[in-house]
Amino acid sequence: MKILVVGAGPAGLMFASQLKKIKQDWDIAIVEKNTVDEIVGWGVVLPGRAPQHPANPLSYLSNYEEIDAQYIDEFCLVHQGEHAKASTGITLCGAERRALVGALRALCSDLHIPISYSSPLFDGEGLDTEAYDLIVIANGINNISNHFNEALTPDVEFGKNRYMWYGTPQIFDSMNLIFKATEHGVFIAHAYKYSSTMSTFVVECSEETYHAAGIESLTDEEAKVLIANIFSAELEQQAVVVQPGLQWRNFVTLSHKKAYEGHLVLIGDALQTGHFSIGHGTTMAVVAAQMLVKALYDHDVLDSALEDFNEKVIPLMQLFSGHAGISRTWFETAAERMDLSAGELAKSFAERREQLPPLPAALAQALGAALSRKEA
Ligand SMILES: Cc1cc2nc3c(=O)[nH]c(=O)nc-3n(C[C@H](O)[C@H](O)[C@H](O)COP(=O)(O)OP(=O)(O)OC[C@H]3O[C@@H](n4cnc5c(N)ncnc54)[C@H](O)[C@@H]3O)c2cc1C
Repeated sequence: MKILVVGAGPAGLMFASQLKKIKQDWDIAIVEKNTVDEIVGWGVVLPGRAPQHPANPLSYLSNYEEIDAQYIDEFCLVHQGEHAKASTGITLCGAERRALVGALRALCSDLHIPISYSSPLFDGEGLDTEAYDLIVIANGINNISNHFNEALTPDVEFGKNRYMWYGTPQIFDSMNLIFKATEHGVFIAHAYKYSSTMSTFVVECSEETYHAAGIESLTDEEAKVLIANIFSAELEQQAVVVQPGLQWRNFVTLSHKKAYEGHLVLIGDALQTGHFSIGHGTTMAVVAAQMLVKALYDHDVLDSALEDFNEKVIPLMQLFSGHAGISRTWFETAAERMDLSAGELAKSFAERREQLPPLPAALAQALGAALSRKEA
């Protein structure tokens, strides 16, 4: 079997490495748009402790201890200077995206899976689809266009809030949600440690607040100072840091009704994105990758494997999309709740997704089934 994976992010790397472990004679190659050093994003939160938790990609790395991941058990909501604290329910793992992706790439190299960097692939520009038995599209949010296959064109929805993914050397030991009502409107920070020296600091605000604060006409440097001033009490004089490739934008939700067409199949963000406020994107990439590996393991005929994968993965992605959509909307309407106390706001936050079946239980079931296979 000859397989091409488009995109060396968590989804493509997890799929390629896990499949190679059970199908060592299959020819698997990865193409990646960026250079080896261009890995966009600060830290992400993953579920559970490595190496025990199968939805945490660190659990698949023998050198997971070198990642400097940080474990978090407490949630803290800050509003009007008050702190409402609660347990996170399960232990969360903050990990640097660069370190995680770098380690997964090293795992693929150890398994003799070639990765071609600086090789953006687009249909009609060098992709000979007939040269492969299977093409796995794992190019993340870039899959917004239909250049690979018209039938796989996603539904695209833009969030109402603007957000910016900053980093900061200030260490946030808890999973922090910080609300600041300013003269221009409400700013919200999602902050947590992901290494012993850095935290993620995602800031979001409404489109109106973004314009009222004049952010569109500020340089990166000026915007950083504005944000650091708004959150000065929690940042304790530490700066926020920008990264090339990251800018203020609206969250993009990509969704598909079908995960494959012919011998092209989608996984990870390319299949379904979900708002960062539920912190599950990388987890969903891991789960979808494992489900596709299992389908290829179970079926000798490719069409049957892809149909089986599709039947199982789409309901899970719809549940993910439902949870992420509710959460995104809760943040987009946060200004309506600024009269609540910190405790009441924390309660509203905790309850926002309760009308849907729980996502962790669905993920655990899907992953359990996907991992019921033997390695060669
Ligand atoms: C602000 C923010 C915070 C987040 N926080 C969390 C979090 O806390 N926890 C969590 O689990 N998730 C989080 N996520 C989501 C998470 O980053 C994604 O869900 C995850 O990276 C998806 O993995 P992927 O491999 O599908 O896509 P990506 O990580 O985007 O990887 C896709 C790869 O494909 C490459 N590529 C793109 N186009 C092409 C092309 N044409 N040819 C070849 N290669 C191409 C890209 O360069 C990239 O390397 C967050 C996202 C955002 C925006």
